Amino acid sequence: MRLEYLHDFEDLVLSGLTLSDALDKIEGFHGSVAPGILMGGLMIDLAQELIGASILYNVVVETPYCLPDAVQIFTPCTVGNNWLKVVDYGRFAVSVYDKDNGEGIRVWVDLNKLEHFPDVFNWFLKRVPKKALPLEVLLPAILLAGREMFSYGHVQVFDLAWGVKKGDVGVCPACGESYPVNHGKICRACAEGPYYRAADE
Ligand code: ZN
Repeated sequence: MRLEYLHDFEDLVLSGLTLSDALDKIEGFHGSVAPGILMGGLMIDLAQELIGASILYNVVVETPYCLPDAVQIFTPCTVGNNWLKVVDYGRFAVSVYDKDNGEGIRVWVDLNKLEHFPDVFNWFLKRVPKKALPLEVLLPAILLAGREMFSYGHVQVFDLAWGVKKGDVGVCPACGESYPVNHGKICRACAEGPYYRAADE
């Protein structure tokens, strides 16, 4: 996909993809060229560069919106292969870390930097109606800001068990469904209460 209003950024490479290929992948995966995914792509590109090409990494994102798709588009990490975890802090931040020792890089949107890019800032903080910032304004603004709107830090990710062993499978004595026995004596739904109730109850 070549968008005329992104002409100035044609030479950009994002996680090894040309901008045109990156836009195609975003649209194919997400259904539209969402600005948040482009922003996420820039964050992931930075994190990948910082952690280095030789590291087998896992990823945690801190929001369920857009960033998970950016990770699944621009890295081999997916929810389904369990190399990507989503924690809902509601923060637009991503940690990319060595799957063996948890050492990694956390990249976040730094509002002190973002305020130098008013269109992106206003969109990001929902300070203006969506219509006020059409894609032909917002996408170039995001690419122009690029890495200048992010900060990063080195982190040690705690819960490596997240990405590692599935362990033995048992049968929950309360509900009769299968579950990982390392979750406890009964499954988490039975222990903590499920997220649903049966509609006929
Ligand atoms: Zn159960």
